[in-house]
Order: sequence, then structure tokens, then C-alpha cells
Amino acid sequence: MKAIQIHQTGGPEVLQLAELPIPEPGPGQVLIRVEATGVNFIEIYFRKGTYKSSLPLIPGSEAAGTVEELGPGVTGFKAGDAVASVSVLGSYAEYAVVAAVSLVKIPDGLSMEMAAACMLQGMTAHYLAYSTFPLKSGDTTLIHAAAGGVGLLLTQMATRIGARVIATVSTAEKAELARAAGAQEVILYSDQEFEPEVKRLTGGKGVEVVYDSVGKTTFEGSLNCLRPRGLLALFGASSGPVPPFDLIQLSGKGSLYITRPTLWHYIGTRADLEWRAGEVLGWAASGELKLRTEHLYPLSEAAQAQRDLEARKTTGKILLEP
Ligand code: NDP
Repeated sequence: MKAIQIHQTGGPEVLQLAELPIPEPGPGQVLIRVEATGVNFIEIYFRKGTYKSSLPLIPGSEAAGTVEELGPGVTGFKAGDAVASVSVLGSYAEYAVVAAVSLVKIPDGLSMEMAAACMLQGMTAHYLAYSTFPLKSGDTTLIHAAAGGVGLLLTQMATRIGARVIATVSTAEKAELARAAGAQEVILYSDQEFEPEVKRLTGGKGVEVVYDSVGKTTFEGSLNCLRPRGLLALFGASSGPVPPFDLIQLSGKGSLYITRPTLWHYIGTRADLEWRAGEVLGWAASGELKLRTEHLYPLSEAAQAQRDLEARKTTGKILLEP
């Protein structure tokens, strides 16, 4: 099978196309034929060595595909089922294995591309909006990088709940997308300081929650946009990691909360996975959740896909097609 492999950490050029044997599903595992693979920022952290992994590595964990073969002891799936997961072991490949407990069926009417596009970013948006800070109608939230993969989905979910979304984006084109997803206010944080603008838009009060995936360049300002006892959900580091921080500052800024959540702790049980994947895939199938999947690359162009994601050139989802 064709797969992308990394033999050493580094720039996008370390993502090399290789010919490898098709993996065999072990006990409790399922072999899938990958039809669409999601490209996510986390693969860039692994490629660079920011997150550690043994090498050689086939990157990727999010895919939609067809069940090819069941490993010993697997029940509930059969060959030919359309399935998706965010826990695939090496999804930048034509075939991959995945634990059956982390696999879900794709509802009728939803394409492989759409399913792969909404699993990881959709469930991330879901846990942020429904669990990390359960938004209520009337809340005001600041969402950074709102035209990104997670950003567009989170903006739609927050709007659907009835929250007022203040979005930040870097370009006018991205501002249009964030508005179309439901953001009531959009700040071009590349041209303008977002902190005074958020204060102005909230009459000096600040917001209940900031969803911040940008990290280094936004962290300080995000804290300053919160109202007393507000929450900063710092869920990514697209601009780099946040430097060490003295917790006493949380007191002075208004008895604030900070959490650094990650998806895996919000889909750790089968019930949580089924709840979040079921809602996200269901909303995508009904059209309630709009997905942008115009960034489609052949598997062999994985390096270019990561380059474009890193260079802030993309909006919505990036997919690889084996
Ligand atoms: P995005 O599509 O959001 O791409 C990243 C965006 O971040 C860019 O488009 C850009 O938007 C913005 N950005 C701001 N500064 C920079 C910078 N210096 N370099 C690059 N981008 C920058 O990616 P994803 O939706 O895939 O992921 C968003 C973030 O969420 C990532 O940090 C990812 O690691 C994290 N994440 C965390 C999860 C969790 O559970 N904790 C799960 C999933 C994702 P703009 O041009 O508008 O500024």
C-alpha cells in the first residue's frame, strides 16, 4: 500500500511517500480502507518533534473509510461498513488499523469526505461548547482563528446555542467566512489589537469564555478579555506555546479560570464518543452543520497540505485522498 512515512523530525519535506505492507488487524482491531484522511495541526507538532513519537511514523489519526477485515474478537462491524475514527493508527495511508472501540459508523447520506472532515474538529468544537464551558443562550464568547477548521464549527455550534460570537481572523476573506458561520462581530487581529475591541464590543465587561487555539500571540490578550470569573479554554498553540505563567495573575485579573483541554479526555468513554460523534455526524448529514472541504490533496501531496495549513492559507478542513 502507499503511505506517508517520517524517518526523522523536521520540515514538511520529511513526509515521504513509501510502499509498505498492508497492516494486519490485531485482537480488537479493524482494518479499514482509507477513503479520506483529515489533516490536523497535531500532525505538524509530531512532524517537528514538538510532540514525541517513535520513528519511523505514519502520521495521522483521523479518517473515514470502509471496513476491510476484522481482527479477533471484534463484534458490531462487518466488511463493507462505512466508518470513521479520530484514533486511527497512521491514517496517511491507503489502509490502516484502528481499535474497534474508537470506531463509529457513518450515517446514511454522509459522504466519506464530509465524515472525515467533521470528526476531529467537530468533536473538538462539541466538547468546547457543550462540556468545557457549556455555553448558554445570551453568553458572549471570543473565538480566535474562527475561520479555521475548529473555528468555523465552534462558531456554528455557539451560534446555534444562542451565544453571541466575537471572532478573530487574519484576513477579510476569512472574516466573511466567520460571519457566514454566525459570528456577530469579527476582528481582524492582524490589523487591530483585539483586546480593546472586545472591551468596546462588550461595553467594558468582557466575555464569559475565550476559546483560544492560537496560544503564544493571543494568550495574554485573551485573559484580559474575560469578565470576572471567566474561563480561558486554551486548546491549541498554532502560533507557538504559551510561556510559563504565574498563577497569581489569575487573581488580579478577576478570579479567572484557565483550562488546557484535549479531545482525548472528552471521548475517553464509548458513551462520550458515541454522543459527540453521533451529534456531529448527524448535524453534518442533515446539513445543520456546514463543512468546508475545498482543500483536497492527493496522499502524495501531504507535505504541501501541511505547508498550507502552517502558512495560514487554508480555511475549514484539509483532506488527503489516498
Ligand atoms: P486551523 O484551521 O484553525 O489553522 C490554524 C489557524 O490558526 C490559522 O488558519 C490561523 O488563522 C491561526 N493562526 C494564528 N497564528 C498563527 C500562526 N502563527 N501560524 C499558523 N496559524 C496561525 O487549524 P485546526 O482547526 O486544525 O486546529 C486549530 C487549533 O486547535 C490547533 O492549534 C490545534 O492544535 C488545536 N486543536 C486542539 C484540539 C484539542 O483537543 N486540544 C483538537 C483539535 C485541534 P488566522 O489566519 O485567521 O489567524
